Amino acid sequence: MALIVQKFGGTSVKDRSRIFNVARIVANTRNAGNDVVVVVSAQGDTTDDLIAKAQEITNSPSSREMDMLLATGEQISIALLSMALQEIGVSAISLTGWQAGFVTDRAYSRARIKRLDTERVESELARNRVVVVAGFQGLNRSDDITTLGRGGSDTSAVALAAALHADRCQIYTDVEGVFTADPRKIPKATRLKEITFDEMLELASLGAQVLNNRSVELAKKYGVELEVLSSINPIPGTIVKEETKVEGMLIKGVAKDDNVAVISILGVPDVPGMSFKVFSLLAQRNINVDIILQSSGTDGAKDLIFTVPLDDAESALSLLQEHKGRFGGGEIKVDKNCAKVSVVGAGMQSHPGVASRMFEAIGSQNINIHMISTSEIKISVIIDKADADRAVAAIHDAFIQ
Ligand code: ADP
Ligand code: ASP
Ligand code: MG
Repeated sequence: MALIVQKFGGTSVKDRSRIFNVARIVANTRNAGNDVVVVVSAQGDTTDDLIAKAQEITNSPSSREMDMLLATGEQISIALLSMALQEIGVSAISLTGWQAGFVTDRAYSRARIKRLDTERVESELARNRVVVVAGFQGLNRSDDITTLGRGGSDTSAVALAAALHADRCQIYTDVEGVFTADPRKIPKATRLKEITFDEMLELASLGAQVLNNRSVELAKKYGVELEVLSSINPIPGTIVKEETKVEGMLIKGVAKDDNVAVISILGVPDVPGMSFKVFSLLAQRNINVDIILQSSGTDGAKDLIFTVPLDDAESALSLLQEHKGRFGGGEIKVDKNCAKVSVVGAGMQSHPGVASRMFEAIGSQNINIHMISTSEIKISVIIDKADADRAVAAIHDAFIQ
């Protein structure tokens, strides 16, 4: 008998018929003689709707209350799915994140899992029940509800699979696996049979929301092989693992991230320690800085230009404005109309000319590049948001036949 963790995203449980569809998948797995732990997300657009509800009340909700609110979405799903399982004759019990033992740090809205106490889940499994766990949520040490960040149910599932030493972790979603680009935007995108943790981590971090990046980080750390597959179309999906057999494929995928803002601090004194002053300030507030450009100093001053998540742009801006005296008091600008487009593939390490081919594809569309960043397995550019979909299509055409 194997232990299988199955995670179902929002679209997969969006209404009555989808919930029964999921219940049947779980029942089939159970009836084949497996123990099953199920992780579910909030139904359909519930999380977005809850965010909108909060915005009807205030522009700056307390992060604690926001997590209290958002965690309710997953709680609806676990109860309904457990009822559906019971309705079709499968013994099941729902558990909230905290009942399932998720202990997190205090960072509301982006909490990290610190510990996972699996006794309750294990005792329910021992009673021959399917355990249905609410994704995306945990409890901090003050017993306050936290959430793990958007797409966090993937992370809940991988964490459970790792802690329970599950034999398989299946991420069921609304597409048939991981594709060479978002299949909803690029109809020519093809499904990958396999992808490495490193490549998937880059794709996820660079905007391919099919898997949450922290879930991939965790899967790599604990060696949890993932299978991404459709809850609607029962065909084999994509396996995410340490090493893949398919070699020589230069580029595995093209990703777009709209959640990007560019901040420019002009006229920073060209003296040691200035970058530290700026970026330590942002780090203290947990704001992730991604691409950084620094102009060469002229007349004793330089410009610092960097990207932050769009969601954090306003708080970064007000923080920098408040402390601008510390780094020269120059003008601070923010551009929210940009996007990051990236190519990812371990194969590019050994193939020169990937960057030039990418820039040629972007140039052929008459699209201007504002910033460039490269690593061993990816190249990213910052361009205008309005150009991003066209850029993805052109780059996909250039690399993937
Ligand atoms: P779930 O609700 O199941 O967690 P998500 O909406 O979070 O689903 O992720 C699935 C979506 O990710 C797909 O509907 C697809 O539009 C998008 N996506 C973006 N990039 C990719 C990619 N490279 N491969 C597959 N899907 C992708
Ligand atoms: N419901 C949460 C979200 O929409 C978590 C998840 O779906 O994984 O981000
Ligand atoms: Mg998701």
